[in-house]
Order: sequence, then structure tokens, then C-alpha cells
Amino acid sequence: VPTIGVLALQGAFEVHAKRLSELGADAHLIRKPEQLDALDGLVLPGGESSTFLWHLELAGFYDKLDAFVHSKPVFGTCAGCILLAKEVLNPTQKSFGVLDVAVERNAYGRQNDSVILKEDTKLPGGPLETVYIRAPRIARIGKKVEVLAKRDDSPTLVREGHVLAATFHPELSEDRRVHEYFLEMVRDAAH
Ligand code: GLN
Repeated sequence: VPTIGVLALQGAFEVHAKRLSELGADAHLIRKPEQLDALDGLVLPGGESSTFLWHLELAGFYDKLDAFVHSKPVFGTCAGCILLAKEVLNPTQKSFGVLDVAVERNAYGRQNDSVILKEDTKLPGGPLETVYIRAPRIARIGKKVEVLAKRDDSPTLVREGHVLAATFHPELSEDRRVHEYFLEMVRDAAH
């Protein structure tokens, strides 16, 4: 059984932990840097990425997390995706830079900022329900980034090696395929 952490400093962490438990993982809420040592993988949830950064600096958490996301499977959703990106726009912001994408915060404007869509996906099982809340937009991807789903022409679910990221909130849909996919990544990494 993989041990998965969900960063629980701020934002939408509870439902992620619930989804992971439903899929048979041993899910833990992570509030202290030393808790990272026991994990096979980590979820960085949605929330407000600038607030995450503020919490991480305060707790002396940033460097430890930086080392983790560079070496173990991680899954960032929405604000979590922003934290993993190589480049953050609107405005520019510090990030771990472990996923070769440029991401634009709050990119869909007032009218369109929270919406539920159905998107084509490379994940088996047909179109994927995607819930967006003040979502970022992936504006550029590097050559090694695999696109698993798209909204219009922008990637919304991407993978680069041990890093998975979504600009939407998969934990708010009943569809568990994205979490299943991440657990698969964690199992593969353990071999
Ligand atoms: N707008 C948030 C940010 O810029 C992300 C929103 C979310 O995580 N739902 O960090």
C-alpha cells in the first residue's frame, strides 16, 4: 500500500486525502517538513499558491519540499501545479521549477473563472469531467512534457517523469481516474 501525503497547510486538501483513501492508499495530511520522510508520493492541492509560499517560508518547509519534489512522485492540482512549474506568470512568482511549463495564474477572467467541463483525455475511459476554480492556464510546455488532457488548445493535465499536474480540481469529481493514474506512477517509481 503506497503512503501518500497531501500537503495540508492551506487549500483543498481534505477531499484529496479522501479520494486517495478510497483508492486504497495510506493517505496522510502533511503539516510538518519531517513528515515528508515517510512518503512514497505527495499531492500539492489547490488553494492560493502565494499563500502556500508564505506558509512554506514561515515553517522552514520550502527547502525540504524542494528536495522532495525533485526526487519523488508528486501531483500538483491548480495552485499545486503553479508551485511545480518552471515559470509562473501574472504575476511572476517563486516556484520549484520541476515541471517544464509556463503557467499563467487566474488566466480565465472573472466571467469564466469557475466552470465544469468535459474534456478529451488520453486516460482510458472516455471524456474527463474537469472542475476549474480561478484556474491557471498552461501557456507553454517543454519537449518532455506529455499532455494527457486539454481545454481548447491549452494542456490541462500533464506529466513529466515523476511529476503530474492538473490545472483543474480532479478531487471534486466522482471520476477517480486522475488519482488512479497518480497512484500507478507511485507504484511504478517504487519498483
Ligand atoms: N488562483 C489560484 C492561484 O493563483 C489557484 C486557484 C486554485 O488552486 N483553485 O494560486
